[in-house]
Amino acid sequence: MALLYFAAFGILFYAQSSLWESVFHEYVLDVRPRGRLAGFRHSRWLSDVWYGAFSHGTLHHYLTFRNDYARQFADEAERTALMARLSAFLTPAQFRDAVSAQYGNSLTWASTRYCGLPIWLNLLWLFAAPGPGEAAAIAIADLTCATPYLLFSKYVHPYLHEAYDSAIARAPSPVRHLLRSRYGLAMRVSHFVHHRHPTHNFNLHIGADIPRRRWLPPTDEEWTIMLRIGLIKPIHRARLRARPLLGHGF
Ligand SMILES: [Zn+2]
Ligand SMILES: [Zn+2]
Repeated sequence: MALLYFAAFGILFYAQSSLWESVFHEYVLDVRPRGRLAGFRHSRWLSDVWYGAFSHGTLHHYLTFRNDYARQFADEAERTALMARLSAFLTPAQFRDAVSAQYGNSLTWASTRYCGLPIWLNLLWLFAAPGPGEAAAIAIADLTCATPYLLFSKYVHPYLHEAYDSAIARAPSPVRHLLRSRYGLAMRVSHFVHHRHPTHNFNLHIGADIPRRRWLPPTDEEWTIMLRIGLIKPIHRARLRARPLLGHGF
């Protein structure tokens, strides 16, 4: 029975987190109306929302990786100039967050109090569990199937912005295995397309972009660029094109 609970809640939690990531990324992190965002900045309740949108939608998308998808700063002078601008513009706490999250390339654990909302809410299911075995199954399903989007944003995303060989050489063992898998390659390719088309491909936790009609496969030109900058290798393109991954055709 506990196994059945794990399978059922695992599927539910995976799908729910993928949907949350896709929606949250589109409507909070990449939100466009700047006037509304400016209001959030000074709101007691919404300053975290403003900072999340600034950190990802502005800092990561537009103030870093400016000329090269696989290089955060052209040189040290560019990084120093950005730090000077940020320290004048952000509160001291936000500035510390920006630096520790690598200028929007990763995230801080503090930000998981709102972007991790489904993971915390899933724990309410524990009250509906008929016994301790089923409760353990729900807790394990939450830990393993609901959390990937947060772990991917914090630990995997920086390697998606690196040439494949360099990422494989630098990444710690579990991340390296993920980066080599078809799932990791799909994330890599999908995220490259997201930076060129910020209205699509919101998921790293792959799934919900398809039913939300936000999935764009790379064009021939984009495949050529990814191959040229070493983001992928020809064999990766063949692996992804061999068959769809969770409905995503390449
Ligand atoms: Zn984005
Ligand atoms: Zn990115």
